[in-house]
Amino acid sequence: MLAFMRKLRMAKSQRDELLKLVNDFFPTPNNSPTTSIKLCSSLGLTSNHQTYTFFSNCLREMKYGQCVNNNCQFSNEKINIDQIFDLCLMNLKYPSETIVRSNYDLLLNYQKVARLKRNDLTDITSSI
Ligand SMILES: [Zn+2]
Repeated sequence: MLAFMRKLRMAKSQRDELLKLVNDFFPTPNNSPTTSIKLCSSLGLTSNHQTYTFFSNCLREMKYGQCVNNNCQFSNEKINIDQIFDLCLMNLKYPSETIVRSNYDLLLNYQKVARLKRNDLTDITSSI
């Protein structure tokens, strides 16, 4: 199911809707995941990022779609989506390792070619 969702590049909301639809056909009660987060958790996949939502008016972090800054004139009011921005923090160690591992032969070949040309500026693997 997750491979299918990834192949179609489904958004999280679309994944959740599909899981709910599929779950409607299963007998109840069942242990079938009803959200994409629960699906990933059931497969042992954890999130590699954290998203923080801020209100552009006061630049403070929001909770549950509302500004919780007591000094803000829009405190505890529903905020329009065009007044919100997200900050996404991600640990780049794992994706970097994955990219290097999957392209290791290509990097080695690039290093060899760059050194044959005696051009250290194009050698991205050089420690210089
Ligand atoms: Zn605010």
